[in-house]
Amino acid sequence: MFSFPTALLSKRTLPLIICSLTLGACASTTGAIQAETNAENYPLSTAVVYQTESKEYPLLSSYVYAQATKALPASLQPSDVIVMDVDETVLDNSQYQREREQQGLGYSSESWNAWIARKEATAVPGVTAFLNEVVARGGKVALVTNRDKSMDDATWQNLLALGLPLTAENTCILGRTAQDKTAIDGNTVINDKDLRRSQLKQGTVNCSNSTTASKPTWQAQHRLLMQIGDNIEDFEGVTQEHANVDALLPKVGKSLFILPNPMYGSW
Ligand SMILES: [Mg+2]
Repeated sequence: MFSFPTALLSKRTLPLIICSLTLGACASTTGAIQAETNAENYPLSTAVVYQTESKEYPLLSSYVYAQATKALPASLQPSDVIVMDVDETVLDNSQYQREREQQGLGYSSESWNAWIARKEATAVPGVTAFLNEVVARGGKVALVTNRDKSMDDATWQNLLALGLPLTAENTCILGRTAQDKTAIDGNTVINDKDLRRSQLKQGTVNCSNSTTASKPTWQAQHRLLMQIGDNIEDFEGVTQEHANVDALLPKVGKSLFILPNPMYGSW
């Protein structure tokens, strides 16, 4: 996704934070606040209730992954790579959102990193079956996440604990570094995941989970076969502000796949 931390501070999230502090005044005036309350009497946003309790969310995400599976070639070449975001694409962090809202709190980098370190995120509905197919067909996955690179080991351990069929040979974890942001030049590097996509193509990528055995696999040029995420900036060369939906649409369902995430974003 574009940036979990930044996105969580988006303009859509701020009203919730403010309302959480002044609950009585806000609950009746903000459409995003639902009547549901917890023991501490802080309301959950409709977005979090949708993501954690609705039948629509798992149906939609499973459908997107079923479509992505259909779009996979029968066998993938060693140079092919599926580029996936992590948060709300592979890992479901709605429990973090739920806990913060229940406390009347919003995002903070400290609480977010503490959540990552717990390694308790669950799998997004549909992703396990998709990854099983990718691996069965000889495919490779690059997880381009805006979690800080220092958290990559915890992310990797969380993924393995879910029983996903991932190894250092078939999966490369790429958390965000400061360079990912400073490299943005508005020309060849448009968003903060483009540098890593470019490194994947060139074979210069630095996988956090690499081993001596897996390194040569990733130190080779790659073709980005698919891009999957919950944020428009999980796609190469676009920004939330300037993305052209009409231009992207012909690729959606073929090489681009977008998952629902009403909880936060770069919008
Ligand atoms: Mg995401």
